[in-house]
Amino acid sequence: MGQDQTKQQIEKGLRLYQSNQTEKALHVWTKVLEKTSDPGGKFRVLGCLITAHSEMGKYKDMLKYALDQIDTAREMEDPDYLTEGYLNLARSNEKLCDFQKTVSYCKTCLNMQGTTVSLQLNGQVCLSMGNAFLGLSVFQKALESYEKALRYAHNNDDKMLECRVCCSLGNIYVQLKDYEKALFFPCKAAELVNDYGKGWSLKYRAMSQYHMSVAYRKLERLPDAMECCEESMKIALQHGDRPLQALCLLNFADIHRCRRDVDKAFPRYESALGIMTEIGNRLGQIYVYLGVAKCWLLQKEFDKALDSLQRAQDLADAIGNKLCTLKVHCLCEGIYRSRGQQEELREQVVKFLQCVEELELYCGMCGESIGDRDQKLQALPCSHIFHLKCLETNGTKGCPKCFKSSMKPGFV
Ligand SMILES: [Zn+2]
Ligand SMILES: [Zn+2]
Repeated sequence: MGQDQTKQQIEKGLRLYQSNQTEKALHVWTKVLEKTSDPGGKFRVLGCLITAHSEMGKYKDMLKYALDQIDTAREMEDPDYLTEGYLNLARSNEKLCDFQKTVSYCKTCLNMQGTTVSLQLNGQVCLSMGNAFLGLSVFQKALESYEKALRYAHNNDDKMLECRVCCSLGNIYVQLKDYEKALFFPCKAAELVNDYGKGWSLKYRAMSQYHMSVAYRKLERLPDAMECCEESMKIALQHGDRPLQALCLLNFADIHRCRRDVDKAFPRYESALGIMTEIGNRLGQIYVYLGVAKCWLLQKEFDKALDSLQRAQDLADAIGNKLCTLKVHCLCEGIYRSRGQQEELREQVVKFLQCVEELELYCGMCGESIGDRDQKLQALPCSHIFHLKCLETNGTKGCPKCFKSSMKPGFV
C-alpha cells in the first residue's frame, strides 16, 4: 500500500470513528498498519489507534501502539515525529499510573529540538507532566506544569487544551481542599465548551461536568453534584467511554456515602472497581478502597475498614501516591484511637506526620498546614502555595518563600 492509498484509508477510518463506528474504524486502521509501506503513514495510523484505544480505556494496547510508534519515529529520525511519539508514550504511562516514566518521557519531549510543529505540542506535554506530578502528590511541580500548559494554551489560542488544563486544576484543588477553586476551574472549562465547543467531541462537556460534580460534592451541594454526574455519565455511556464511566460510578458512590446511604454506595463502588481494575486505573482503585473503608467505618465494621485501607495502602505504595498514603494513615489512626490500641495508634501517628513532612503541605508564611480542611489558597507565579489570608497580610514584594519578585498572582 503506497502513500496515497494509505492516506485515503486513514481518512476513511477517521470518518467512521467520528460517526461512532469505532469497531469498523479500528478494522480499517489495523489493515493499513499491516499493509502500508509508507513510514509517515504508519506513524499517523498508529497515532489514530493510540487515540482510539485511549478513549476506550484500553491502556495496555495504547502503550503497545505507542511503543511501535516511537520505533517508527526513530527509524525516520525526525524530531517532530519523535516529540509526538514520546508524548504518546508519556500519555500511555500516565493512564497506566506509571507516573515516574510519564515525567521522564515528558522531559525528553521538552528537550527535543523540533520545529514549530513540535513546539505546539509542548502545552500538551506540560499538561501530561502536571498530571503525573499530581499522581505522585508533588503539588508544587504539578501547579508549575499546569501554569506552563495554560500559558501555551493562551499563546496558541488553544481552547481545547485550556479546557483540559482547567479540569486538571479542578482536580488539584480538590486534593488541596480549596473547594472554591476546585469548582471555579471546571466551571471555566464548561464555559469554554459552551462558547467554543460546537465542533468538539462531547467528551469535553462530559469531563467538565464530572469535575464540577466532584467539587459540588466536596462543597456538600449534593443535588448539584448528582445532576452534573448524571449528565457526565449519560455522555460517557453514549460514547462507550469506560474510563469516565468508572470515575462517575465512583463519584455516585461517594455522593451516596455522603448521604450515609451505604446500601446504594457499595454496589457503585464495586462497579467502579471492576472497570478500573480492567483498564488499569490504579489511582482510581485506591479512591474506591478509601470510599469503601469510610462506608465500613459508618457501620462500625472496623476490621473490614482496615482490610480495605490495607489494599489502598498497597496500591498507593506501588504507584507512589503520597497523599493517599497520608489518607490511609489518618483513617487508621481514628480506628486505633477508638479501639484504644495505643501501640498501633502511635505507629500510625508517626507515619502520618512523616507523610505531612514529605508532602510539604505547609503555608510558606504562617507555617500552618494546608490541604487538611477547606481553606482559600493562592499560588504565586513561582507555584509556591499559601493561605490567601496570609498573602493578603504580606506587605513586602516578592514570594515569601523563594523571594522571586512578581507578586502578581499567576493563572492558577
Ligand atoms: Zn498561612
Ligand atoms: Zn516562590
